[in-house]
Amino acid sequence: MRTFHHQHIKASRKRRQCDWCGEAIEIGQSYESYRWARPGDSGTVRQHPECILAMQQMAEREDWEFDWSPGDFKRGSIDER
Ligand SMILES: [Zn+2]
Repeated sequence: MRTFHHQHIKASRKRRQCDWCGEAIEIGQSYESYRWARPGDSGTVRQHPECILAMQQMAEREDWEFDWSPGDFKRGSIDER
């Protein structure tokens, strides 16, 4: 069972890397952050708003049974690079 704590951040205070596309989330840009957990594993993911939509699309298609690394996909897209 996974749990999510999803948050919309209006303006990033630090320069971050998007966990979907691998591109930068610049200071002052908005991003989406969520925590996830499953037995023995948990983490925080930060993504561009358009990238979290892409991830949700992928999750529905793959029934959450997929792994990815930052930069595997194009920004805001489920197309692999
Ligand atoms: Zn991104």
